[in-house]
Amino acid sequence: MNGMRSNPSGRYRPICPMCGRRLEANRDALTIVFMGQEYRFCSQQCQEHFARMPERHIVQLAHEPSGCLGYPCPYDGLPR
Ligand SMILES: [Zn+2]
Repeated sequence: MNGMRSNPSGRYRPICPMCGRRLEANRDALTIVFMGQEYRFCSQQCQEHFARMPERHIVQLAHEPSGCLGYPCPYDGLPR
């Protein structure tokens, strides 16, 4: 069975981090890789919005109260 195991270090959910919409599987073009983490977006608008202030958004995404997005915080574990 190809189960749905929880794999915290692996995949993230196919949800647009900017607006929470589901991503379509085929649309790989709208991707940004920032600090080793890949982010996918539902639209160019969301992608550009993220690209404007990636540092701010990644921290927000990693510490979403709902925790539904599952992006790791790239600053966790870094020396201060
Ligand atoms: Zn979006």
